[in-house]
Amino acid sequence: MINIPFAKPSIGEGEIAAVIEVLKSGWVSQGPKVAEFERAFAGYVGAEHACAVSNCTAALHLALLALGVGVDDEVITVSHSFIATANAIRYCSAKPIFVDIDPETYNLDAARLESAISNRTKAILCVHQLGMPCDLPRIVKIAARYGLRVVEDAACGIGSEIRINGRWDKIGQPHGDIACFSFHPRKVITTGEGGMLTTRDPELDNNLRRLRQHYMSVPDTARHQSTQVIFEDYQKLGFNYRMTDIQAAIGLEQLKRLPDLVGRRRELASRYRALLSDIPGVIPPMEPEWARSTWQSYSVRLPEGKDQRRVMQYMLDMGVSTRRGVMCAHRESAHPPGTWTCGTAYRGHICGPGRCPSLWHSEAAQDHTIILPLFPLLTFEQQNQVVAALESALVHR
Ligand SMILES: *Cc1c(COP(=O)(O)O)cnc(C)c1O
Repeated sequence: MINIPFAKPSIGEGEIAAVIEVLKSGWVSQGPKVAEFERAFAGYVGAEHACAVSNCTAALHLALLALGVGVDDEVITVSHSFIATANAIRYCSAKPIFVDIDPETYNLDAARLESAISNRTKAILCVHQLGMPCDLPRIVKIAARYGLRVVEDAACGIGSEIRINGRWDKIGQPHGDIACFSFHPRKVITTGEGGMLTTRDPELDNNLRRLRQHYMSVPDTARHQSTQVIFEDYQKLGFNYRMTDIQAAIGLEQLKRLPDLVGRRRELASRYRALLSDIPGVIPPMEPEWARSTWQSYSVRLPEGKDQRRVMQYMLDMGVSTRRGVMCAHRESAHPPGTWTCGTAYRGHICGPGRCPSLWHSEAAQDHTIILPLFPLLTFEQQNQVVAALESALVHR
């Protein structure tokens, strides 16, 4: 009986030794290891500044706050993303305005962006979905024309690259105002939980550093080292969104291994593409010639008329775990602590007066794609078994 998990983090002896070292050091909360991880991360993506936080959801929240997103502002994003993307906008009491995706790349369709802009629009929150870079040059250009800020949800994009003006850049310099990354175990590298914000702007970086730490004027690390008594103050509403040194120590080791981890993912992705070409009707993901994905997830579109759930169940019965396509926030009815009146939480958000955009491609992607196992520890033999299970499922279901 085969048993292929959907994802599995790759943790080495280096990570384990690094954690032990921190535990013995006497400083386990945000401290020198976090600072070291931030410098290494900034260096890797080519950013001026990097600020570590407790997870990417917190990073998205702080990015929007630092750019001045507030009550009744509108932020344009995709519904077709993990719920945290849209939720971060609502944390700021602002309103997500959803635009549809490009059905081939599963990323924000830049051609639809302008029609979503209103005089309340403050920012664009674009997503590099599953590690595939979105059309940043075009998005940034439109944002500049309308005076909008750009936040990149690069949760899955650590190691992704984009060709701009003939040069390959890492995602995260950033090309917008702020890029946000995740170190959740399902992402490309992990710290258990963790996030990072990168920016070119020292003032923004400074603001982010205060926001993540209760808006404290002098951090505890500085007070700890000082020979003078220092009284800190708290000039604004801040948060406790800190990363610990234990997590940062893991992150530093993972970062060293990142080129190998991404290389292995790319190898598996191109192998999937070759294997899947033998199965009629299955459409592998499209990588534009100006983009290089990390393949955080490998999502394939099922042949016309195939039932997603039945195919997935058949594969699970054969010992192969899959996931359905990326969710659509606008279809979720859970929560709102507010007064949204159009039936469901996120339906209320998209149906602005006179504006109810079609999210047809987003919904189709959720319903007709499945995500296949892809993680560095997956063997070629297991990968063959995944493809065989899919092939068999499509014959029998
Ligand atoms: C995983 C993910 C997040 C949330 O990241 P956390 O670190 O778990 O908070 C946000 N956006 C996208 C697109 C993601 O894939």
